[in-house]
Amino acid sequence: MKTLTSLTAIAGFVSLAASGALAQDAPAQTLFTNVHIFDGISEERIENANVLVEGNLIKTVSTDGIDAPDAKLVDGGGRTLMPGLIDSHTHIYATGVFQTFAGMQAAKWDQIGAAATENAADYLYDGYTTIRDTGGMGSGLRELIDRGVVEGPRIYTAGAVIGPTSGHGDWRNPTQRTYDYEADELGKRLNLSYIADGPDEIRKASRLNFAHGASFLKLMAGGGVSSELDPLWSVAYSVDEIAAAVEAASFFDTYVTVHAYTDETVNIALDAGVKSLEHGQMVSEETVKRIADEGIFWALNVAGLDPQLLNHPNYAMPTVKPKLESYLDGSKNLADYIKKHKPKVVHNVDTVLSTIGFGRSHRDFEKYFFSQMFGNHAMLVSATSTGGELAQLTGKRNPYPGKLGVIEEGAYADILIVDGNPLDDLLVLGANPKWFDAAPRDRGFETIRVIMKDGVFYKNTLE
Ligand SMILES: [Zn+2]
Repeated sequence: MKTLTSLTAIAGFVSLAASGALAQDAPAQTLFTNVHIFDGISEERIENANVLVEGNLIKTVSTDGIDAPDAKLVDGGGRTLMPGLIDSHTHIYATGVFQTFAGMQAAKWDQIGAAATENAADYLYDGYTTIRDTGGMGSGLRELIDRGVVEGPRIYTAGAVIGPTSGHGDWRNPTQRTYDYEADELGKRLNLSYIADGPDEIRKASRLNFAHGASFLKLMAGGGVSSELDPLWSVAYSVDEIAAAVEAASFFDTYVTVHAYTDETVNIALDAGVKSLEHGQMVSEETVKRIADEGIFWALNVAGLDPQLLNHPNYAMPTVKPKLESYLDGSKNLADYIKKHKPKVVHNVDTVLSTIGFGRSHRDFEKYFFSQMFGNHAMLVSATSTGGELAQLTGKRNPYPGKLGVIEEGAYADILIVDGNPLDDLLVLGANPKWFDAAPRDRGFETIRVIMKDGVFYKNTLE
């Protein structure tokens, strides 16, 4: 069923083929007929259309017939053709196999790699063709996926999170006085977290991340919920500290995002030139307006506004639960501010140290809850074209320099065909009103009939 038609996917083989014969063949074509297109942007589908894929790109989108006699034909049967999904904040290496970061420290490297590979495949077969990893390791898994060695989505990675002493990325025991990067397993061996204080150390950490293959940088700009050394209201970095990372990122033609929840931390980060925000649920209406006005991309984990979060095992510790309660109280009016000012929200699930099964439930519930708050169309746009726009912020650093998250001529051929119309009914993409009490499910959805990434079929039940 799986055919290697993509230029990127065959690149590895081309370099091995001494004759170079493969490179001279015309790129393979696939013609999808009889589909209604959700293009990643519009509220209405393009009815009764056809899409021609050539190599790894979308070549033609038309409501007229497309002449492509050599193309592989796929009759969509009146279903919806849409872009593959994008999760703009996850942690592909931090899987539930290890339960805690201490568990990751104790794990063997091949266990971490194997578990991350399984996690990546799970994303792809659930319909995610791109993910953005906002903290964890380097570009190793991405490179093997891109060479076609293992299966998974496209990956944009931040590498290690960069945070200060006693910040959200400082997972030391509170009695540990010294920090030695050379001796630190999370920092040096696993490249999960880098403790950096002051502009010079932040520059070094930023550049080290680029050496490890980061596409962008993530700084911990304020306190977090699940960690113990950083009060939720605390400020982690000054403007000049964040600006040092922004400059280092600009030298690599890319951007900085921040973990931040409060007005003070978000505004410091925006003053420093940050272009994207992770979390941010506790900000005021004025700050939501600023985020919208400045075109900042916002990886808002919408399910995080649901008080059901109190059932999350990551927040069960007595030191953490009060933080979660103050967070839920501080975020209770956010949905209204977002509906009013319409910032660029990107769909994300932020699974961290979750089992594969809980990751699925979390993804399914996030789709449902987002659509309940802001509507099906807003959810779909956030998971396709807005995520694709955020991907482009990586500039010359972009591992995939074409367009993602849209069905249009010249964009990457990352395509789903689904039963029904997701604009009316998100159940066809697996949205589920149950979260912690969701029944376990297998990988993938019967209603997703075709999964194509970079012109390659990973699933096709329409033959
Ligand atoms: Zn996260």
